Amino acid sequence: MVSWHLCEEVGRLIPDEIRIGDVVQTRKPHPCGSSEWTVTRIGADIKMRCSGCGRVVMLDRETFLKRRKKLISQGPPTDIGALNPTDKEMP
Ligand SMILES: [Zn+2]
Repeated sequence: MVSWHLCEEVGRLIPDEIRIGDVVQTRKPHPCGSSEWTVTRIGADIKMRCSGCGRVVMLDRETFLKRRKKLISQGPPTDIGALNPTDKEMP
């Protein structure tokens, strides 16, 4: 089940669904200047990698959704991954 919420800043609906490979823009840019992140792991926490400097951070789901401003591109659907997402990790 996918729920959606309206992002006021971009004025459109973005899914609350999180997929591995999602490229997202955060509200605040990283100190390196980039505000694009790629989701690399989904489990109890969301792991994402900065496109600018490659730094990886872990956020809980709620914090991730709060910081995410925009979904730039969505990762591929993962039917199996949705059941066991912690086993999936990008190289
Ligand atoms: Zn960075």
